[in-house]
Amino acid sequence: MSSFEIKTSKRYELVNITQQVEQIVRETKIENSLVLVFVPHSTAGIVLTEDEPGLKKDWLDFLKKKVAGFDFEHSKIDNNADSHILSGLVGQGKTLMVENGRLVRGIWQDIFLAEFDGPRTRKIKIGL
Ligand code: ZN
Repeated sequence: MSSFEIKTSKRYELVNITQQVEQIVRETKIENSLVLVFVPHSTAGIVLTEDEPGLKKDWLDFLKKKVAGFDFEHSKIDNNADSHILSGLVGQGKTLMVENGRLVRGIWQDIFLAEFDGPRTRKIKIGL
């Protein structure tokens, strides 16, 4: 088990954490295993996607639109029902594979922390 922290700077944001995850995988020297990338937070998530500025904007614009215009009950006390719902929808963790000591992922498949209620300091837990 390992973890690291990311400071986000916006309310909605995608932060590429691929390098940090790959470094942890290398340091463990595990050859073949599953690796869980998990955020212990209910207003953030983990997304696998291409690191392209337009696509990152598309993701956030699309997700904001999905939760726009609702009269959320939870937002009356905490003003972040949208954040909790998007966190649940994109998921708070992803399971990947380590094969021959390397993280298995496609060339356009980077790992992102999806911030939905920033700015905050987020913990990323790596289980392998
Ligand atoms: Zn809340």
